[in-house]
Amino acid sequence: MAGKIGFIGLGIMGKPMAKNLMKHGHELCVYNRTQAKAKELVEEGAVLCETPAQVAARCDIIFLIVSDAPDVKAVLEGENGILNALRPGAVVVDMSSINPNASREFYQTVKAHGGSYMDAPVSGGEQGAIDGKLTIMVGGDDADFDRVKDLLLCMGRVAVHVGGIGSGNVTKCANQIITASNLAAVGEALTFAAKAGVDPRKVYDAIKGGMAQSAMFDSKFEKIIGRDFKPGFKLDLNIKDLKNVLSAAQAFGTPVTLTTDCYEMMMMLIQQGLGQDDNCSIVKYYEQCAGTEVKEVQ
Ligand code: NAP
Repeated sequence: MAGKIGFIGLGIMGKPMAKNLMKHGHELCVYNRTQAKAKELVEEGAVLCETPAQVAARCDIIFLIVSDAPDVKAVLEGENGILNALRPGAVVVDMSSINPNASREFYQTVKAHGGSYMDAPVSGGEQGAIDGKLTIMVGGDDADFDRVKDLLLCMGRVAVHVGGIGSGNVTKCANQIITASNLAAVGEALTFAAKAGVDPRKVYDAIKGGMAQSAMFDSKFEKIIGRDFKPGFKLDLNIKDLKNVLSAAQAFGTPVTLTTDCYEMMMMLIQQGLGQDDNCSIVKYYEQCAGTEVKEVQ
């Protein structure tokens, strides 16, 4: 079994990322807490493991992408976690978006067990994961990056080694500050136009090629105007990222005023039971305040 690659966490992001590793000819050992989600990959040839420890016993390189730091901790340190069976010199590449300080703690723990650990969160959404075009922000040791870079490029169009452990998630926090503020601005602008009686599609067509253009505007416009709030990227997960930004910013002593506003808007929607909606439902905050809806003009 040695030589296989481990992959833990087959959610919206993890499953297509694992598929892309397989498309490049890599043999995978996979684990997902809800086993049914592994079925498709197993049918395509992946080896099914029943615990993270079983993955660790078989693989020298283990990727994982779960929700947040407590989940990474469970996968690493839980009863049947990776650390129970870590092979000497194995590297764990954590692609979850978590607090950078948690990444630094996990690095120390894995090192103490004779392995190594990197933080390598991603941007690019579900479509980027399917297309193998993610942006991957990597923190960790130089030698580990050299070891995993080609594998990362099976999942992403770019993998930048930003610095030591935690740098990947610092970069991801920076990314989330920009994307959340941008998404809120898209919701604010489209609601403003709709309330003013101007067709939101024409507004988009008019400004999409100018300075207001953004990847976020382009990827979410059709969902918003089509009232398609199926995730994509769940509000529950987006607010988790903003919590990580707020707590890291407090520790580092930097202002995050825009992020604080986005956090409050998402919290209000989550309190209304919309946590499993796509994050573009942030537009609903503005719509509720303005008493209008951004929709296609017939
Ligand atoms: P998701 O569809 O909700 O998948 C979460 C995965 O984590 C599932 O496989 C889940 O297992 C597993 N998991 C959660 N808690 C666990 C625990 N305690 N023990 C074991 N497994 C656990 O989420 P996702 O959208 O793929 O997001 C995964 C990560 O990527 C998050 O950190 C997110 O912020 C980040 N991310 C997401 C996007 C996006 O557009 N979706 C983009 C960039 C980054 P079960 O199947 O058993 O629930």
